Amino acid sequence: TSFEQFELNRQLLNAVAELGYTEPTPIQQQTIPLSLGNHDVLGIAQTGTGKTAAYLLPLLMKIKYPQGEAPRALILAPTRELVMQINEAVSELGKYTGLRHLALYGGLGPKTQIETLQKGVDLLVATPGRFMDLYRLGEIVTKNIRTLVLDEADKMMDMGFMPQIRSILEIIPTKRQNLLFSATFGGRVERLSAEFLESPVKVEV
Ligand code: AMP
Repeated sequence: TSFEQFELNRQLLNAVAELGYTEPTPIQQQTIPLSLGNHDVLGIAQTGTGKTAAYLLPLLMKIKYPQGEAPRALILAPTRELVMQINEAVSELGKYTGLRHLALYGGLGPKTQIETLQKGVDLLVATPGRFMDLYRLGEIVTKNIRTLVLDEADKMMDMGFMPQIRSILEIIPTKRQNLLFSATFGGRVERLSAEFLESPVKVEV
């Protein structure tokens, strides 16, 4: 079992090899084919299981070539630290793709983020609050978003991001793929997935 078994392109496989990943982790083994097959996925996995690459590789495969216009994928995560970490993983895994990506989080002025948005991006990694702030300022075009990732969904619920997530779900296209990752699968995450995911395949590691 190696990454070569997946329908990923050479740019991604080379990046994976360079990172020293020789074997897919269990969550990667199970969810990468599902994501590439356009299923909605509900992944129950802790940090440290390789969940980030599990959703990033198929997502990067899908958006594939830089268009540098309105974002085609959106990854939401609860904290600035996690957003930065995911964005770093996009840099590493996507280093040969030329895809343009941007991290959106609060705690500093939005000027630089707005300038980068205006130049065009393929992929956004954001906290729900900052995403909505910039959307309300008219700086984010959502019509091309075809993939939504909710990472650490349970933590986003705990932190009270449900209203922002609801707003975001209302302003992005309904025809899209949803990938939801959570360390736990309790009542709220269950309701969220029942409400917004379409016949998701649940994978638990
Ligand atoms: P995550 O659970 O996404 O936070 O990933 C935990 C760590 O595992 C990160 O440092 C990744 O770079 C690393 N990692 C992810 N996938 C693999 C893999 N298939 N083989 C070795 N390390 C990996």
